Amino acid sequence: MNTKRNGMVLILSGPSGSGKSTLYKKALQSTGGFEFSVSCTTRQPREGEQDGVDYHFVSREKFKSLLDQDAFAEHAEVHGNFYGTLKSELVSRMERGMDVLLDIDVQGAMQLRDLCRKEPFFAESCVFVFVMPPSYTELEKRLRGRGSETEETLERRLKNARTEMEYWNRYDYVILNDELESAAARFTALIESQRLAVKRMKESPFYE
Ligand code: 5GP
Repeated sequence: MNTKRNGMVLILSGPSGSGKSTLYKKALQSTGGFEFSVSCTTRQPREGEQDGVDYHFVSREKFKSLLDQDAFAEHAEVHGNFYGTLKSELVSRMERGMDVLLDIDVQGAMQLRDLCRKEPFFAESCVFVFVMPPSYTELEKRLRGRGSETEETLERRLKNARTEMEYWNRYDYVILNDELESAAARFTALIESQRLAVKRMKESPFYE
């Protein structure tokens, strides 16, 4: 926690199989200081996933009622399921100086871009980062290696990946995840430099 600055909201997107979760887990081991925003989703939990930790797993009815209450900062339908970031997950952390990491798809990220155009507080907080696999061949290999997909969901994820890849130049930063160690080092450097940004400081970091 850092009371001298507002937290940043690091928005991380990239197609399934870009390796973004492995990447941020690795980078966060060395930087720390992040809290995750736990998204709501209507998809079924995968093996080992915990409710309230990986996601808030909710029914479609519950998701719709949260939507009606305007509870989401952004939401999207991805691979036939709904996903959304609760506003409540973001604002309190930002004000406490906690950095928040959002692992969201391109549609959701673009909604946050719109929000930034309207809300200066969000504009100062949000950093948009796109993670790319080195090639489509490598992407397919990684997805198949997961073993959690059926041929049908795999095909759908590959098709979506090509669409998502077109959004890379609407982000502030791009990380090519060619080799995990070096990509994580680049990501860590990005986080550390963002933590020095004067625009999020509420007062001087000087001791007295
Ligand atoms: P998965 O089902 O593999 O956990 O996630 C599928 C996709 O949904 C990923 O690309 C992930 O970034 C995205 N996603 C997860 N949570 C959210 C969210 O709260 N909002 C949006 N827009 N996308 C999300």
